[in-house]
Amino acid sequence: MIRLAVLGPSGRMGRLVIELVGDHCDPDTAIVSAVDAPDSPLIGREVVPGVVVTSDLDAGLTRADVYIDFTTPESTRLAAQAARAHRVAGVIGTTGLDPATDRAIDELATHAPVVVAANFSLGVNVLSGLVKRAARALGPEFDLEIVEIHHKHKRDAPSGTALALAESLVAGRGTSLRNRPTREGDVGARSPDEIGVMAVRGGDVAGEHTVYFLGPNERLELTHRSGSRRIFAQGALHAARWVAGQPAGRYDMNHVLDL
Ligand code: NAD
Repeated sequence: MIRLAVLGPSGRMGRLVIELVGDHCDPDTAIVSAVDAPDSPLIGREVVPGVVVTSDLDAGLTRADVYIDFTTPESTRLAAQAARAHRVAGVIGTTGLDPATDRAIDELATHAPVVVAANFSLGVNVLSGLVKRAARALGPEFDLEIVEIHHKHKRDAPSGTALALAESLVAGRGTSLRNRPTREGDVGARSPDEIGVMAVRGGDVAGEHTVYFLGPNERLELTHRSGSRRIFAQGALHAARWVAGQPAGRYDMNHVLDL
């Protein structure tokens, strides 16, 4: 039995994780605690029979084998620090992580296994592998650009997934490329060592990423479209089941899916 702590149960992703565990009635997984921000309207309310939402991280983590974190970078830093003390495994999906949070996760990973992914979808992780291979095969004659679209509530831009895809392109190309998040005004001709990364926001788009390979007389576009945000919660639960048996260390979805 894997005992899960869900962080941010009032959030869009936290709610989905709780829903999915309930839907699947998986006898091997149970939510044992839920931790939200002190000002969350869910504090003191029951989200799963017997599980009352608290803002006390230590109390929430102490009963869990794995915590699932889709919150904010600051909350993710605090959770990683608390999880380290309790040696609780982590599944972290929060995006827009700052260097201090990233360090806190690295420190947690010296004590417990932790999976960090900017996107838990199976399709996006396969896309990441494909764009790496395409960048390598097509070579420097092809200019690389990424366009991502997300719902109007998304706070960070460009998306963590777009940045991860840019890293895959860099890895595939084997030379240094720099991200260029915006173009405005007289920016001059495109430099061959840049990757344009553009963010479109609106509506309820769950997430769409297109990687363009723009070459002489031909163009390749690889696109992933999320049909529902549930794919991220499904992937996070998949990662939670996997990470529970792993030695301490920092992992990503390539490890989980053996890609
Ligand atoms: P949201 O704003 O709906 O939810 C955020 C939650 O964090 C809220 O419940 C809020 O109360 C909680 N929170 C804030 N401070 C907290 C604290 N100190 N302790 C505990 N909880 C706290 O956001 P969302 O759409 O659910 O997304 C959350 C994060 O997950 C974002 O960074 C988003 O980009 C990311 N995300 C990642 C993936 C992925 O596959 N990795 C998929 C979707 C979203």
